[in-house]
Amino acid sequence: MIALLAAACGGTTTPSTATTSAPTTTTPVESAPLIAAPTDERFEVVADGSNGPTARVFVSYPRVAGADSFNDAVGEDVRAQLDEFNELYIGDEPGGVAIPELNVSFDYLVASGDVLGVRLESYEFAGASGGTSWRTVYYDAREGLVRSAIELLTGEAAFTELVAVAQTELSDRGFGPSPNPGAGAAVRNYDSLAFLANGDLLVEFDDYQVASGGDGRVAFVVEAATVDPWLSDFGRRVQAQVMSPDGALTLPTAPPTTAAPPTTTSPTPATTPPATTDAPTTDPPPTTIPAPGSGEDVDCAIVACVALTFDDGPVASTNRLLAILAERNVQVTFFPVGSNVERNPDIAAAAVAAGHEVGNHTFDHVDLTTRSPDIIREQMQSTQAAVRAATGVTPTLFRAPYGATNGDVAAFGLPQIMWSVDPEDWKDRDADIVAQRVLAETDAGEIVLLHDIHPTSVDAIPAILDGFAERGFTVVPVTTLLGGDLTPGEVYYRR
Ligand SMILES: [Zn+2]
Repeated sequence: MIALLAAACGGTTTPSTATTSAPTTTTPVESAPLIAAPTDERFEVVADGSNGPTARVFVSYPRVAGADSFNDAVGEDVRAQLDEFNELYIGDEPGGVAIPELNVSFDYLVASGDVLGVRLESYEFAGASGGTSWRTVYYDAREGLVRSAIELLTGEAAFTELVAVAQTELSDRGFGPSPNPGAGAAVRNYDSLAFLANGDLLVEFDDYQVASGGDGRVAFVVEAATVDPWLSDFGRRVQAQVMSPDGALTLPTAPPTTAAPPTTTSPTPATTPPATTDAPTTDPPPTTIPAPGSGEDVDCAIVACVALTFDDGPVASTNRLLAILAERNVQVTFFPVGSNVERNPDIAAAAVAAGHEVGNHTFDHVDLTTRSPDIIREQMQSTQAAVRAATGVTPTLFRAPYGATNGDVAAFGLPQIMWSVDPEDWKDRDADIVAQRVLAETDAGEIVLLHDIHPTSVDAIPAILDGFAERGFTVVPVTTLLGGDLTPGEVYYRR
């Protein structure tokens, strides 16, 4: 989303007065004031995805231990989008053109004092063109209540004034008819509101909401002086915490011991994964730190090697996987998404410290084949930077989300690692099925695709390792499997 944020913010804001005499805005700032992900262990990422022949889905959203109604609201928001998307696209005949995609990501706006706010971003590609939408969700930790964007304002009159300012702004900038139907006085039209560090209010509209797709994202800023009389008590508290954060978020009850709730975002009715062992409380303590890429001394030209690869983390269940791998002294290859590395840098660092290989799987898990060369580069570069910052190691391998690649991806210059064994662990959230498929399909030299975001896949690992050991396979990182010296841009499926 980094690239999307930077892109397509056309137009400059102009002063408008609407129903108030106070100056409105001259500030050209239109990016949401995102903050770095809080790193304390109450803040978790829930990630899920599917890779079907007719639709590609990846969602990540926050879960904050102790903020139950917030978690419910965010989870419900994402589930509703998934249901809608799945209904439209899952089970269609493959169309032959580009595959529809849903990608949900998020950033924190504020997590300080007794207020929490996130901005959810959804990119939906319908097979011909894509559009992005945003909405903000707030949490009033004092009351234990989730709050919509519009609850930053104090009532009907304030909302009416905001709508009037928006209409003037859009008209001045030449967007759509006046009044613009996409900015009418309906709450759903104003579902993304955020404060800037100076107290101004950022109002943003979805792609296509108030302008044609070519205009990109449309947003404008209302000056703090204008906004001031509109704010609810809650809005004032949010504004104050954005302008001058108290520090850590204070929740009324914040037991960090509860595990992530089961998530069932698979298009098939997924079984409820057991989620009692993924509390992010235990880092796997490697007793010794092996040299990076231990197993390098294994010669896979002689030894029967296989590589296990784990995509889309790191998340809480990655910790449990690391503990299993450490117990058995097995090194694997991770393909994390950069956004999750930024949110869970400790887990990424623990993986590298334990001798695992860490590659690049884009920042937001996007289907690169439907993005511009600029976005492709940004997605890959920002992930290189995130992994380097968290682990000290710069990835030397790349895996395209959904295995979807093209010449622009190759041009980035990292060897592209695909897979030759896919147990479809995203479809069947069942450890026995996943283990059976992997063991039935894997021969020496193969690369196995798994996802550490699914607790059931982590559950399958002991049986997989047992089965490999019985057959005399040595599990090694991908680079070792392939014998090193990989060619930039080349696509590898197996040894
Ligand atoms: Zn993936």
